[in-house]
Amino acid sequence: MATLGTHSSVGDILGQAKRVVVKAGSSLLSEAQSGALRHGWMASLAQDLAGLRDTGAEVLMVSSGAVALGRRALKLSDGALALEQKQAAAAVGQPMLASAWKEAFAPLGIVTAQALLTLEDTEKRRRWLNSRATLEALLSQKALPIINENDTVATDEIRYGDNDRLAARVAQMSGADVLVLLSDIDGLWTADPHRHSDASPIPFVADMSAEIMAMAEGPNPQSNLGSGGMVTKLTAARMAVQGGCTVILASGVCEHPLAALMNGARATVFAPAATATDARKGWIAGTINPAGQVHIDEGAVRALGKGASLLPAGMTACTGDFTRGDVLAILDMNGREVGRGLASYTAGEARKICGLRSEEIAHALGYSARAAMIHRDNLVLLHKEKT
Ligand code: GLU
Repeated sequence: MATLGTHSSVGDILGQAKRVVVKAGSSLLSEAQSGALRHGWMASLAQDLAGLRDTGAEVLMVSSGAVALGRRALKLSDGALALEQKQAAAAVGQPMLASAWKEAFAPLGIVTAQALLTLEDTEKRRRWLNSRATLEALLSQKALPIINENDTVATDEIRYGDNDRLAARVAQMSGADVLVLLSDIDGLWTADPHRHSDASPIPFVADMSAEIMAMAEGPNPQSNLGSGGMVTKLTAARMAVQGGCTVILASGVCEHPLAALMNGARATVFAPAATATDARKGWIAGTINPAGQVHIDEGAVRALGKGASLLPAGMTACTGDFTRGDVLAILDMNGREVGRGLASYTAGEARKICGLRSEEIAHALGYSARAAMIHRDNLVLLHKEKT
C-alpha cells in the first residue's frame, strides 16, 4: 500500500491513480433556478475523466441527480418529498440522467453503463460480491460505470439516502485507490465558512480522529438539492480511507473540475489509513446499518486498542436483533461508536453471556461455544485512539 506524504499534491494523487471513483452531487448537475441539466459542465467533466483514463486509470462515476431532475419534470413542489414522490421522481429522472451522461461521453468514444444499487447490494456479502463482479466486467470491457442508488425501489428505512456513502461503498467494492467527492463544498474547513468568518480550510487530513469528525456541522447550507452534508462526507471519507483509499473532497462547481484540481484548486485530501484494513474489514467498517449494538466497558476498550478480541466479560449490554455473522456496532461507556465487528453469537445468546468470564459461558448457554463475542479477525476500530 502506497503511503501518502503530506506533500503529495492532488495532481500527483490523480496522476498516479489506478482506479478512481468520482462522485458528482445533484447541485452540480442542474441549474439551481431552472432545473435544466448543465450539459456544458457534464461535457467538461467527461473530458476530464477521459483524460484520467488516458493516463491509464480506470474510472467509475457515482452520479446523483435522478430525484432532482425527475421532480422538475413532474412539476413537484419544492421542499421535502414523500417517499412515493421521491420514488416516482427517480423513475423519471434516472433515464434522463443516464442519457445525458451517454451524450456527454459519446464524443470521446467512451461507452457508459448504468448500475443502480440498493443498500442490500452492498450490505449482504453475497450480493456485494455479485455487484463487484459486474463492475469488474464493465471495467474490463472499458465501459464507464455510472452508478446511482436505485431510488425507485428504495424505501426510507432501506436506503443510503446520500450518494457520498454510496460512493465510498463503491470505492471499497471496486478496490479504488482514489475517491473524489465533488459537490459545492470546496473541502473541509475548521467550521462552516458561511457562518464563521474565522474558519480556515484544512488541506490535508492524516487520520480521521474524533476531532476531525466533530468538525462537520449540519447539512451543507448552500445546497438543497442533494442529501449529503459534511457529516455524510466525513463518514464516507472515513469508510474509504479505512479501505486504503485516498479521498479528495473538492468543489465541482466550475467546468473541468478535475483539471482545476490538477492546477491547484482548493481541496481536502484524506490520507488512506496507515494500517489500511483488508477488503473484508473495510466492508465490515463501512456497513451502513449495523444489525445491533454491543456496549463495552473501559477495560474492553483498552484491550481492543491493543488488538484483542472482544470477550463477553467486557460487554455491559447488547441491543438489536442479530444473528451470527451480522455486523455489530461496538459502543464505549459514553455511547460513542469505537468499532465494528461480526457477531459470533446470536442476540439471544449474547444477552445471556453479557459480562460473563470465558469459563462461565458454557454453563450459561448449556453448550460449549467460542470464547470471543467478536473475534479480532472480524473486528475493526473506527477511531485512532490517542495513547
Ligand atoms: N440518489 C439521489 C439522486 O440521484 C441523490 C442522493 C444524494 O443527493 O446524495 O437523486
